[in-house]
Amino acid sequence: MLLKKITLGVFTFLTCIIARGQTQPPVEKGDFYPTDLVELIRLDTSLVLDIRYATAANFTGRPVYTQARAFLQRPAAEALVQANAALKPLGYGIVVFDGYRPWRVTKTFWEITPPDKKQFVANPAQGSRHNRGCAVDVSLVNLVTGKQVPMPGAYDEMTERSYPDYTGGTPEQRANRDLLRKVMEAHGFTVYRYEWWHFDYQGWQHYRLLDIPFEEIE
Ligand SMILES: [Zn+2]
Repeated sequence: MLLKKITLGVFTFLTCIIARGQTQPPVEKGDFYPTDLVELIRLDTSLVLDIRYATAANFTGRPVYTQARAFLQRPAAEALVQANAALKPLGYGIVVFDGYRPWRVTKTFWEITPPDKKQFVANPAQGSRHNRGCAVDVSLVNLVTGKQVPMPGAYDEMTERSYPDYTGGTPEQRANRDLLRKVMEAHGFTVYRYEWWHFDYQGWQHYRLLDIPFEEIE
């Protein structure tokens, strides 16, 4: 009985070690800025949230977040608020699909994405800029109708329609996409070359890969 208990204990211990080795973000050497994740709606209540990963309406077909919240590192969050303010006189606002994303979610995305679509997801061995709290997925809402504006492709669509330089779609769709990009770029963000909705904030390299669950962020 005792031997059985010890064997079980050793087995559990080893399982934990193995699982731990596979479930932690890669360790990066060097100096990093302190983590300062800010909940976006606390800075600007006019930002619209459409947190797809907290619903089944995302490419995984199931909720991967337990809370519909969005965070960014403080300078990126403040820049997003400025971009939102710049859009207001034009009759538009920003809708946020996703911001900071815990590393374990990036790992899940990588595992379920087929090999020919991997350019649309980050390799967990390197981590995502979302994991650093420095990337945000956004679109535009029309402030009069409250509806999201038409874009050349859907959020998280894994086709060439997602490329920011895609020349198809209607002139209106391309104008909306290009307006979003112009305003975001004027506020320190860079569009990802495969996704019109994904923007990285300048200096993202200075923040660590994080795996903090939303529940643990105040
Ligand atoms: Zn993204």
